[in-house]
Amino acid sequence: MSGTILIVDGLATNRIVLKVKLSAAYFSVDQASTAAEAVAAILRDRPQCVLISGDLPDRAAGDLIRDIHALPGCDRLPVLVLTATCTPLRRLDLLRAGAEDVMPRPFCDKTLLARLRSMSRHAPVEADLNLTTGTAEALGFAEAQAGFTSRGLIVALHSGTARDQALCRRLAQGTAHRFETVRAGHAEMLAGLRASPDVLLVFLPAGAGEPELVRLAELCGAPQTRRSRVLAVMDPADDGLAAKLLDLGVHDIAVQEADPHEITLRLDKLLRAKQADDTQKARLRTGLHAAVTDPLTGLYNRRYALSQMARMIETSRASGQPFALMVADLDHFKAVNDTYGHAAGDQVLTRIAHALRDALRPGDSLSRIGGEEFLVLMPQSGIADARAMAKHLCQTVRDTAIILPGVEAPVSLTVSIGATVANPALRGDTLDPEAMVAEADHALYAAKSGGRDMATISQPSAA
Ligand code: GH3
Ligand code: MG
Ligand code: MG
Repeated sequence: MSGTILIVDGLATNRIVLKVKLSAAYFSVDQASTAAEAVAAILRDRPQCVLISGDLPDRAAGDLIRDIHALPGCDRLPVLVLTATCTPLRRLDLLRAGAEDVMPRPFCDKTLLARLRSMSRHAPVEADLNLTTGTAEALGFAEAQAGFTSRGLIVALHSGTARDQALCRRLAQGTAHRFETVRAGHAEMLAGLRASPDVLLVFLPAGAGEPELVRLAELCGAPQTRRSRVLAVMDPADDGLAAKLLDLGVHDIAVQEADPHEITLRLDKLLRAKQADDTQKARLRTGLHAAVTDPLTGLYNRRYALSQMARMIETSRASGQPFALMVADLDHFKAVNDTYGHAAGDQVLTRIAHALRDALRPGDSLSRIGGEEFLVLMPQSGIADARAMAKHLCQTVRDTAIILPGVEAPVSLTVSIGATVANPALRGDTLDPEAMVAEADHALYAAKSGGRDMATISQPSAA
């Protein structure tokens, strides 16, 4: 995503006026004069949002919005419409087509700029991460899931007037989501929320001023509601309020006399965006977990082990306490594959991996750093701890009898271990993860040539 705003307008003067105003507000701007040019520019430059005129020479605005959202990777690209014919019906149509908002022409500079700032601040998670397609796929990000919505929670904070309450009842009937109402304007407003809402609908009284804005700012930052999307319903007579609200962190705005269908549409849109962001965050968490995990055994992988060791070296330097590491390699594992097949080999590997993990002390960690090779890290441990643990692990593997389907006799194996100790008090500056693994590997080699099913502890002169 380039971070630019794409202005799409058939009239050069309109484009120039907008460009001057947006550039003065530190936005970087790109231009297109037709829908066709706009689509090409979007695919080429990946703008952060698109600002289109309601009267384009070659395409109806609603159709262009649908075209844009159908482009690869653009299903959540925000599109704002500026139109001279901003009737309630037209606004509804364009919102239905997927517009982020529809603003009248001539427009209020402050509101437009605040809306653009808000759109940029609340950009979809994946747009903010700026991932390449390959990385996004590897981390589990998928496209076109914004259309699916599960049942969410909308909480309306109303002032208690009959008008607000009547509107709440209509909105509650018109939505498929859970819709709860809380009387606003009191200190207990936040405490009254039982669950974290997906969307907060906040009714602002006519003449809303400093106290209401402060309360709204509190809502946007409070633990129960800081992740909620906020739709503020305001008095249209207050000209400058919309910009203030958007800059405060409110996600969307409707005016009090808006068609309830419009408010429902805006609520649904916010809810969909919130759920899409939540899904993407969950996928990112899963993807990040997968990036440091070995899929066969569920243990950490080599990359994680090395970074963990780097952190351990730092801690060890700070505390002056040594730590131990071991490389454990299963003996004659190739014979398991050759005898029972690769799939059975996988089962054996997994069972032994889990047995090794369960044999460690709390705080120790096990990673799979190669095919049948594991790395054990033992914080705050010296040579005696390493020796005792290595002995225990050899015994654990010996004792792990594995029953394979269709194989009568249980399979059992042995393991060879090479261990070393990092003692920062003796060689603080020379500790390095890769070098330490190499040292443990060297000790492992000695265990293998010494007959296997045994452990060798490397004892560098300074350790
Ligand atoms: P040594 O005692 O010298 O370590 O003998 P070894 O047979 O264990 O060692 P070698 O390096 O000759 O073979 C390791 C074998 O581990 C060969 C490889 O096919 C197998 N292996 C590595 N990763 C996996 C895996 O993920 N699944 C299975 N089933 N086998 C694996
Ligand atoms: Mg081996
Ligand atoms: Mg090996």
